[in-house]
Amino acid sequence: MKKYVYLFSEGNANMRDLLGGKGANLAEMTNLGLPVPPGFTVTTEACTRYYQDGQVIAPEIEEQIYEAMAKVEKIVGKKFGDMNNPFLVSVRSGARVSMPGMMDTILNLGLNDVAVEGLAKQTNNERFAYDSYRRFIQMFSDVVMGIDKNKFEKILDEMKEKKGVKHDVDLTADDLKEVVKRFKELYKQEMGYEFPQDPKVQLLEAVKAVFRSWNNPRAIVYRRMNDIPSDWGTAVNVQAMVFGNMGNDSGTGVAFTRNPATGEKKIYGEFLMNAQGEDVVAGIRTPEPLDKLRETMPEIYNQFVEIAEKLEKHYRDMQDMEFTIERGKLYMLQTRSGKRTAAAALKIAVDMVAEGLITKEEAILRIDPKQLDALLHPTFDPEALKKAKPIAKGLPASPGAATGQVYFTAEEAVEAAKQGKKVILVRAETSPEDIEGMYAAQGILTARGGMTSHAAVVARGIGTCCVAGCEQIRINEEGKYFTVGDRVFKEGDYISLDGNTGYVYGEALPTQEPSLTGDFATLMEWADQVRTLKVRANADTPRDAAQALKLGAEGIGLCRTEHMFFDEDRIPAMREMIVARTEEERRKALAKLLPMQKGDFKALYEIMEGKPVTIRLLDPPLHEFLPHDDEDIRSLAEQMGITFEELKATVVKLQEFNPMLGHRGCRLAVTYPEIAEMQTRAIIEAAIEVMQEKGNTILPEIMIPLVGEAKEFKYVKDVVVRTAEQVMKEKGVKIEYKVGTMIEVPRAALTADEIAKEAEFFSFGTNDLTQMTFGFSRDDAGKFLEEYYNKNIFESDPFAKLDQVGVGKLMKMAVELGRAARPDIKMGICGEHGGDPSSVEFCHRIGLDYVSCSPYRVPIARLAAAQAKLKEKK
Ligand code: PEP
Ligand code: MG
Repeated sequence: MKKYVYLFSEGNANMRDLLGGKGANLAEMTNLGLPVPPGFTVTTEACTRYYQDGQVIAPEIEEQIYEAMAKVEKIVGKKFGDMNNPFLVSVRSGARVSMPGMMDTILNLGLNDVAVEGLAKQTNNERFAYDSYRRFIQMFSDVVMGIDKNKFEKILDEMKEKKGVKHDVDLTADDLKEVVKRFKELYKQEMGYEFPQDPKVQLLEAVKAVFRSWNNPRAIVYRRMNDIPSDWGTAVNVQAMVFGNMGNDSGTGVAFTRNPATGEKKIYGEFLMNAQGEDVVAGIRTPEPLDKLRETMPEIYNQFVEIAEKLEKHYRDMQDMEFTIERGKLYMLQTRSGKRTAAAALKIAVDMVAEGLITKEEAILRIDPKQLDALLHPTFDPEALKKAKPIAKGLPASPGAATGQVYFTAEEAVEAAKQGKKVILVRAETSPEDIEGMYAAQGILTARGGMTSHAAVVARGIGTCCVAGCEQIRINEEGKYFTVGDRVFKEGDYISLDGNTGYVYGEALPTQEPSLTGDFATLMEWADQVRTLKVRANADTPRDAAQALKLGAEGIGLCRTEHMFFDEDRIPAMREMIVARTEEERRKALAKLLPMQKGDFKALYEIMEGKPVTIRLLDPPLHEFLPHDDEDIRSLAEQMGITFEELKATVVKLQEFNPMLGHRGCRLAVTYPEIAEMQTRAIIEAAIEVMQEKGNTILPEIMIPLVGEAKEFKYVKDVVVRTAEQVMKEKGVKIEYKVGTMIEVPRAALTADEIAKEAEFFSFGTNDLTQMTFGFSRDDAGKFLEEYYNKNIFESDPFAKLDQVGVGKLMKMAVELGRAARPDIKMGICGEHGGDPSSVEFCHRIGLDYVSCSPYRVPIARLAAAQAKLKEKK
């Protein structure tokens, strides 16, 4: 029979796929002889089986769970439901990779009307026992059965009011007994049956709830953001309870072997005396730094530090650990590779290489390329910062600088961000439901919670600036404002957050670009030594090109020439060209554009200093440039010396039902070869002039977009070549240049061998190729793709992460056909996917020469390319 349940003593760290990260590490710690409360793990395979079987737990799995339970009862010498010494467990989810957004932990499972008495006897504390019981009923009802927890809070509040007390702790054992009674009544009322007294039933329901939580909306969103496949499933960990809330010799905490914000090599953590683990993570009370534990319980502190060091050496990575002290005895509840900021990730990787703990190759593989993004984000302008006065200070939970408008709920933050606003999400504390709002925000500010609170952990993971536990601010969520002293900040007001210091500013502060030295430079250098795939940037302006170069681009893979003409002082000439009625008129307008275009190309060549520059001929549907309202049409008509009516008629004539499949790309050059002529002239003249002025060798690559047929390409290529030869003859200089095409129409991929006979390079335009392969409009698909994610049809946005199965197959075919026809053909990608790590890896695998992406993603692509090379060796 297949094994679906493993005792901690039966597993190890390599069984992460089966036991989940948490389960595998609990097993590993158990086998290392560390003080881990015993327990067992129900595997991820049990979860996938649960879904295959139509959301039921198969009898054999149920049986294995009970068997494991009996074994653990034996180990701890306690029995479920026992009236003297009851066995209680915690139930936690644990996927292969840690996933906030999944099920909350359930504590004290096993409590019932009998066991609560046993717990009272065992702890000699009736109040504690009944408090645990009422918490368990509430948690179970909320997390497992989905009963609104506010209904329970209401009963608790009524009780406090009746007794005239303010805090939960002021309720007596008898009060809590009454609360338990009313909680159970509420449960019956909501569910139609009694609160389950049988611990086995409680356990099975909890396991099912964990399995269900794998598909809750938050988990689905998190998976999509983090490229986690939906068929992995989650494991469930059932572990003997230890109590951190048994008095002042008990406590609980979270610690990292190195500082997760900076990477500094010093144990770093927080704890709370007389509290349960969830109190630390949920940010309900603000915890104390771990150093305090050294003063209050030095022996425990030393034991903990020793364990932490052992774990870091064992795993050869920074660990994030949870521990509980029960009546002076230390227990380890979890260890895992710690989430860290990008800066910390780099420092730790580089330091660990120096310490001899890991190799350079491992260091490269350790960094999540997407995380680099956080380092590339701006900081505050130091002058402005000096002058600014903070209004409050919280904990520097996730570094960076953020300026934006205040919003108080995740939904409103998402809405505002959609409208293009920069948003600061302000919450008392965050919970997994806020995840989308957190993604949408520039920065997150919470009033409660420590460095390991939900807000802090998630913000660091996604590289968003966060100030947590800022207790000076008073939030009124309903009124949509917060106050600091006597200042009031309403929804939409500007504030700024400094995630490095924890300061909050009551104004919008200007930000500036980051520096890219130190550990970043070191790791990038290692990555560059390893990778074989080249990285270029998509850059249309000198500013983009300069930025790209700074970030390590080895050339320009795509210059979209149309972007040069959207400027207010240039668009009139462009419009004149488009609405020209005759070739002669068009040539007149093109003559105005020529010097502008040439100037831009010269600037680009000068910045790139001889590195390859791919310039694409005009591509977009022309109507994008046209004036649409009557006022603009009138003023352009005046400028052109024609009537309003005449121009209006032209504009209407140019309108298309399906512009993306319309008169665009090389089709423009086929109908108006003079456009391609002008652009070629600008490209070649600029190259010759820069060579003459600066002495650099310039190798222009002229790229023809949206080709689907070899003859179509040949037609435009002939125009380009004829013009280039003409220009060189005029100038008396010969330079080298290449003419190639984009592969972005499926037919181009299918006939790549034909096209390669003429084209000297291919660049995959995977934006259009994805659009045309799926038949999804790249401008509108967002509206319905959401449903595809919710229904598990798609796991990610095919416009962001390359569809390797379909679009990828076309690419692979085109590479093979193209190389067969022209062995030395150069190939790259310039769609958005060129900066997405998994897509970069795919490009490496199918043998592209380079990827090209937006400037800020260049470092991400460099690292991803190095990782692709290293993975290939494995
Ligand atoms: C593409 O289609 O992938 C591409 C790079 O071109 P554009 O996005 O300009 O259509
Ligand atoms: Mg395109």
